[in-house]
Amino acid sequence: MKPSKIEHIGIAVKDLDKSISLYEEMLGYKCYKIEEVKDQKVRTAFFKIGETKIELLEATEAASPIARFIEKRGEGMHHLAFAVNDIEKRLHNMKETGIDLIDRKARKGADGLDIAFLHPGSTSGVLIEICENKNKD
Ligand code: ZN
Repeated sequence: MKPSKIEHIGIAVKDLDKSISLYEEMLGYKCYKIEEVKDQKVRTAFFKIGETKIELLEATEAASPIARFIEKRGEGMHHLAFAVNDIEKRLHNMKETGIDLIDRKARKGADGLDIAFLHPGSTSGVLIEICENKNKD
């Protein structure tokens, strides 16, 4: 995959507004964007820490993957996102090497990224997202 960096770390939260205040106070940085991703039934909030971001995720309905995650495990670290180039090619290559993909094709995620998830069963139990910013430069 040869990612260029950890793009962001996703954290599942119950109450986005409450968590934004908490993280703003803890980090000393303001949240720079709040965005709803209808397709994934989540509301997200972003913080920038150097090259990496923190993405807080709140479910917007009971059928959201974030709602199901919190139901099972409570709030906490949800996924790790690696920045890659040529996401479609990476997905193809990973499939060839036997990694289970949740998304066979990249889809639109928050903050202008094309994203795809890998199955945690293939990645030592960690939900991994790969993402590409096709709008950069
Ligand atoms: Zn993410």
